[in-house]
Amino acid sequence: MTIDKPGPREVLVDTKACGICHSDLTVVNNDYGHPLPMVVGHEAAGVVAAVGSEVREFAVGDHVVACLMGFCGTCDRCLVGNRFLCRNPGFTQRAADASPRLSFEGTPVGQSADLGGFAEQMLLHEHNLVKVNVDIPLDRAALLGCGVITGAGAAINTASVRVGDTVAVIGCGGVGLSVLQGAALAGAQTIVAIDIKPEKLEMAKRFGATHVVNATDGDPVAAVHDLIGGGADHAFEALGTLKTSRQALDLVGPGGTAYMIGMQSPDATLELNPFLDLVLQKKSVRGVYMGSTDFRTEIPRYADLYLAGRFNLDDLVTERVSLWDVSDRLERLGKGTDAIRYVVTFP
Ligand SMILES: [Zn+2]
Ligand SMILES: [Zn+2]
Repeated sequence: MTIDKPGPREVLVDTKACGICHSDLTVVNNDYGHPLPMVVGHEAAGVVAAVGSEVREFAVGDHVVACLMGFCGTCDRCLVGNRFLCRNPGFTQRAADASPRLSFEGTPVGQSADLGGFAEQMLLHEHNLVKVNVDIPLDRAALLGCGVITGAGAAINTASVRVGDTVAVIGCGGVGLSVLQGAALAGAQTIVAIDIKPEKLEMAKRFGATHVVNATDGDPVAAVHDLIGGGADHAFEALGTLKTSRQALDLVGPGGTAYMIGMQSPDATLELNPFLDLVLQKKSVRGVYMGSTDFRTEIPRYADLYLAGRFNLDDLVTERVSLWDVSDRLERLGKGTDAIRYVVTFP
C-alpha cells in the first residue's frame, strides 16, 4: 500500500490498536454496498507520526483516538454543539478529484468510515481525531472510538437517563455493556441486562446491571415487567434483530422509550401500531447513532474516568490479536462468539 503525504489538515497516525467491531462484518460482507477495495477497521487509537501544514491541534507524539464522526465545525449544527449531526458528513474526505490517501499499485483504496484502522498507519483529517491522556493504554482507548461511546452515549446523551430511572438492555456485547455502564453512571436505579449467554450476564453485573434476565428462560418481556412494575423507562436494543427490537418496545412502560442501536439488515422492517403502541401508551421509538456523542469532548472525559478507576474498559477486551487474525476473528463474530472485543494491536 502507498500512503500519500498528509494534506494541510491531515494527520498521519501510527496505529497502535483497533477493535474489531461487529459492524466491520457488514462492511466485509458488503451488506450496504461499500465501494471496494478499502481498508476496514474503525475503532482505532495510535500516536501522531506527522501533521499537515495547517494542523494546530495535534503534534507528533500525541496519543489520539480516531472516530468516524467527522465534522465540519462551521455549519449551524456544529456551531451549537451538535457536531454529531453535522450537515457536511463528507467534510473530512479528500475531494473526489484529489489524489487518493491510499493506493495499491495505482488503484485508489478507500478507508472504512474515513478511518481504515486495520493498518499500521492511518492518514486522516484532523476532524476525525481527538487527543487523549497519554496514560491510558491505547488498546483500551481505541474502544472509546465506537462501541463504548455508542453504548454509554445512548444512555447518557440520547436517552438522558436520570437518577432513579429504570433501564433494560437487550444484548450484552461491547455496546450493550457500555449502555449498562452509562446508565449506572447517570444514576439509574434498576438496570436489567438481557442476553442468552450466562457468561455475558455475569459480565453485565460488572458494568452496572442490578438484575439479569436470561432470555432462554422464558419471555424476557414478562420477566422485565415482573422486575419493574409497569415496565422500564428506557429499553435499549443492542443486538440488531427485529424480534428484540419489538421486545424493546414491549419492555417499556407508558411514556417510555425504546432505543434502536443494533445494526439491522438493510431490508428489515419493524412493525408497530402507531395508535396502540405509541399514542395510547405514549411510547416513543428512537434511533441511536454513535450515542449522540460529541466525541471531541466526551472521549477524553471517558479516558479520564477510566484513569480514575471509575469507568470499566479493561473487561471489554477479550483478546489482543495481530493483524493476521482479523479475518478469523471476524468469522467468529459472524458465527456468534462469547467474545466482547477482539482488539488488534500493533507492536
Ligand atoms: Zn463500530
Ligand atoms: Zn458541521
